[in-house]
Amino acid sequence: MPAPPAALKGRAAIVAVAAGAFVAAGQQLMPSGEKVPMDNVAPMALGQPQAVAAPPTGVETAGTEPGLLEEGPADLGQFADMLNNGSKVADEIAAQVQAKLRPLFTKFTSGTFTSGYGMRWGALHAGVDIAAPIGTPIVAVEDGTVISAGPASGFGMWVRLLGDDGTVTVYGHINTALVSVGQHVLAGDQIATVGDRGESTGPHCHFEVWLNGTERVDPLPWLATRGISLGPERD
Ligand SMILES: [Zn+2]
Repeated sequence: MPAPPAALKGRAAIVAVAAGAFVAAGQQLMPSGEKVPMDNVAPMALGQPQAVAAPPTGVETAGTEPGLLEEGPADLGQFADMLNNGSKVADEIAAQVQAKLRPLFTKFTSGTFTSGYGMRWGALHAGVDIAAPIGTPIVAVEDGTVISAGPASGFGMWVRLLGDDGTVTVYGHINTALVSVGQHVLAGDQIATVGDRGESTGPHCHFEVWLNGTERVDPLPWLATRGISLGPERD
């Protein structure tokens, strides 16, 4: 079984890299050779006013400031370009960071946990059921690629995702599939809606976990190790 902490580290590491890129980009915005005059910065430790150190003799500070205004971009168009580029970089990085901050695992739907994995009515019930009204959103539990989206024997209709870790997750009895085969989705992306199709006794989502794409295991501990609880089981 893949270790979630390593996966978490993976996405967190990407965030750190993105944050580093943000800092680097910010530094690049400073024209090379220019430095912020630190002489005038007064540290405010512990809320106590601090004396501003007098500039070293011979270093002009106040006297040079008006000059900086005259050394700006040659024309306003050039300045507008700089601003546009800067805000574009900031927007792109913000979008990247936002994407990386999304959870790695999400509960597949909201509703009542009605049936667990195990023998039921003389047959193996190879997944877990959550009852919810028809049309309730079903989301991807983990990042993956859609390998099925449509009719399925017994399930009426299903979506199957091949996780990036090789695990297949199954979402059955769905009313509508909102993804197509080959599409890559992230955990939390809506992929289907709750239905009552196939061998079903009421609107619910049937969820299965196939380790390595074949071995059907109890989803409860698999979900638990990923921080997801279905709550108490109720009929
Ligand atoms: Zn079921």
